[in-house]
Amino acid sequence: METNIDNLLKNFNKLQFQIDLIHWFKNEQRILPWRQDRDPYKVWVSEVMLQQTRVETVIPYFNNFIEQFPTVEALANAEEEKVLKAWEGLGYYSRARNLQSAVKEVVSEYGGKIPHRVEELSKLKGVGPYTQGAISSIAYGIPAPAVDGNVMRVLSRILLIEDDISKPKTRNLFENAVRELISVEHPSEFNQGLMELGALVCTPRSPSCLLCPVQSHCRAFSEGMQDQLPFKTIKKNNKEVFITAVILKNKDGQILVQKRPSEGLLANLWELPNHELKQESMYGQAEQLKHFMKAKYNLNITIENQLLNLKHEFSHLTWKITVFNGYTNDEIKAADFRQFLSLEDMAKLPFPVPYQKIIKEIVK
Ligand code: SF4
Repeated sequence: METNIDNLLKNFNKLQFQIDLIHWFKNEQRILPWRQDRDPYKVWVSEVMLQQTRVETVIPYFNNFIEQFPTVEALANAEEEKVLKAWEGLGYYSRARNLQSAVKEVVSEYGGKIPHRVEELSKLKGVGPYTQGAISSIAYGIPAPAVDGNVMRVLSRILLIEDDISKPKTRNLFENAVRELISVEHPSEFNQGLMELGALVCTPRSPSCLLCPVQSHCRAFSEGMQDQLPFKTIKKNNKEVFITAVILKNKDGQILVQKRPSEGLLANLWELPNHELKQESMYGQAEQLKHFMKAKYNLNITIENQLLNLKHEFSHLTWKITVFNGYTNDEIKAADFRQFLSLEDMAKLPFPVPYQKIIKEIVK
């Protein structure tokens, strides 16, 4: 049975909840670089970076990004490769590409001023309901909901909501709850207060209920159910993909690198030559790699040794990569998307995390 908002908020002391949450946030919030002012561009960049990524990881990336691209115009006019390089290691690179596309739209359609209305923000590429709400409320003081997994966890406990938060439609329920609860005078502090509470107090495991500023409002605490919420169906196991890659050197000691396709996973990032195996096999990988390099690049290669195995998990699949060292005396026609480069020149290109790890092994 669907949860009804009116029933949910019956007997809930909305005003006192706002006061307690906002008071706590004003006194206890962390000092973070994107909180120094309410520049909508900085709010936007920080919220995009913070999706799927921890605050401590984001801080240096955010500072570097804002230094390199301090304004909407600077980001709109930057080369995509530079933007991806600044994002290197943060993962989910489509976030960076979408951010740049959306910022270009802001320059062409809105004269470089980030719109404040959710209806306009929602038309920008990659700006989903959470980011729309965050920009509207934090930068412009509009009482709009900004609901992500963090906020759903906190509110599912406070309001004792047992709906499955992994289902997309459950987000609507939480957005409606925030629309009812949000402080019209202080929407920025209210939304940030919920986010901060989820990060510091109402954490996924072992929430610190005894220190919680809204404990007296929390129904899960009063029922002793805080450890059982939120309710979430467990994801199925990731698909495993087996890959063989090669650090292929030419006679000058340069390494062959190539650009990934412009669509799909890790689009436009760089990588080492590699191919996907039909299934995991400990045998014959080196031979298969030699055939592959001949067929795809017309290169005769010699495999020297197996350097390492590594595993990298994405949200929906896992790469298991076996890496070989090899060399070739053959030449390849250099192109924008594929060439032999020195390690120094490779360092200027954006590589996804698993390939950065492999490159670190070469440097050792
Ligand atoms: Fe979360 Fe506990 Fe506070 Fe409830 S009392 S909001 S479960 S930390």
